[in-house]
Amino acid sequence: MYLIVRCPGCLTFTYMDKYQKWKLCPVCGETISPGKVQVYIDVNKPGEAETIARQLQKYLQDNKKKDLSNEEIQNIREEYAGWVRSNPPL
Ligand SMILES: [Zn+2]
Repeated sequence: MYLIVRCPGCLTFTYMDKYQKWKLCPVCGETISPGKVQVYIDVNKPGEAETIARQLQKYLQDNKKKDLSNEEIQNIREEYAGWVRSNPPL
């Protein structure tokens, strides 16, 4: 499992392994601990995590938003769950 999180320093979306204790932000070098930041969604594969993190970043930029609402986060989780159901792992 991979968690999509946001760097508390520079607010860049990134992802980390669920069992990783912390990760250094690739952009600003801030330490990201999963217990201290919002987890937007957890996904199965790093490739998916990377894609979704990029999409979320773009979504906020395009909509000039600072963060996602709980409702938006919920929608993204449901969308991902639906996508996994229609693309079962081999
Ligand atoms: Zn950062």
